Amino acid sequence: MSIKALKGFKDILPDEVGIWQFIERKARDIFRRYGFEEIKVPILEKTELFVRTIGEDTDIVEKEMYTFVDRNGSSITMRPEGTAPVIRSYIENGLFVRGSVQRLYTIGPMFRHERPQKGRLRQFHQMSVEVLGSNSAKIDSEVMAMAWHILQEIGLQASLELNSLGCTECRPSFKEALLGFLQERLPDLCDDCQRRSSSNPLRVLDCKSEHCQAQYASAPSIIEHLCGPCSLHFEEVKQTLTQAGVPYALNPKMVRGLDYYTRTTFELLTTELGAQGAIGAGGRYDGLVRQLGGPEVTGIGFAMGMERLVMLLGQKGGLESVPGPDLFLITLGERAYEKGFVLQQDLRAAGMYVMMDHEGRSMKNQLKQADKHRARFVLLLGEEELEKGEAALKDMRSGEQEICALAPAFKNWAPVILAKISERTKE
Ligand code: ATP
Ligand code: MG
Repeated sequence: MSIKALKGFKDILPDEVGIWQFIERKARDIFRRYGFEEIKVPILEKTELFVRTIGEDTDIVEKEMYTFVDRNGSSITMRPEGTAPVIRSYIENGLFVRGSVQRLYTIGPMFRHERPQKGRLRQFHQMSVEVLGSNSAKIDSEVMAMAWHILQEIGLQASLELNSLGCTECRPSFKEALLGFLQERLPDLCDDCQRRSSSNPLRVLDCKSEHCQAQYASAPSIIEHLCGPCSLHFEEVKQTLTQAGVPYALNPKMVRGLDYYTRTTFELLTTELGAQGAIGAGGRYDGLVRQLGGPEVTGIGFAMGMERLVMLLGQKGGLESVPGPDLFLITLGERAYEKGFVLQQDLRAAGMYVMMDHEGRSMKNQLKQADKHRARFVLLLGEEELEKGEAALKDMRSGEQEICALAPAFKNWAPVILAKISERTKE
């Protein structure tokens, strides 16, 4: 019996890796333009980190975390999201001394024990960003504009939904209003919502049950309960989003699946992936750094799901195929093969993508391989050519072939071939 991958864990095969690299390259370029620096944090953390930040009554902590006891008897969790580890690192390494505002991003795998389905895996990948140290509403807009910009750059469209969850000042009054609303409907709600309406009432609004969601259509709106400062902040966020040319829709029911959010929260949605329509989400977490023992620093961030971006791009017909080798070296005879092998290394050292056959196949077969790899040029090097100090360069696109006179000194071959090829590919 062959061993298979775990359920919900997926290989990313060479044929699709081009799309992944494309998305990462575009995103990294946008991050750079917005002044973000990369940070890499561990995949394993103490369980406590996630329980304390994401919250005990959330789906993630209640039923989705990969948690185990390691050989020392400590409870360890495979990160289900990127914000808590980045904040932990920010505090532990004193990153706040590098400057009052830190713009950080990270790209990597996350782990959640969910029911695997299209667009929902147990190991999935996120690119996530965090801005630490600014309260400005302009930062909120900038971060959302950047998410928007990334999607634009990779050729995808999404709608942006926006909400404010208020702060510790105003949320209690909303909680109370919501609690009153829930109490009247308690018997009609799912078990999770019934339980949460007493432990963490806001959480119910994030329920996935359609039946519950239908009830919540008439629930009180958090936006109407915002305190003065939160209300002002939210107004400025909306205004500057419009100034930045980013369209959005208000969604006062959006609470997000993690407890640490305050004020601005948002989601990027698509209708093109069926049930798994969320391609990214984020928001402010003004109390989080303090809560983890760090300084009084506010923050905002978001995460985008790579698999969903890859799926969307794939649905759109993907990308042009990755280019093949610049040159495929065809050699005939032992001596030509020996020279060819060293020439291949010299050309690679000069920056070219070069391949050759090592199985001693016929010339016809080697040509076939060059074709299969979609090589741009082929260099034919046989015993006879070697004697004469020349090689035949074939342009696989035009079919043209030219004889290159090679210098007597072997070490000069690579520059000659390189020059010929760049001349031919100039236009
Ligand atoms: P969903 O509502 O789809 O469960 P979420 O609210 O749990 O999403 P976040 O925790 O905010 O998602 O993560 C941000 C993004 O990461 C999501 O918008 C989604 O694109 C992606 N994502 C989350 N969970 C998964 C998963 N199990 N498999 C693939 N992508 C995921
Ligand atoms: Mg989820």
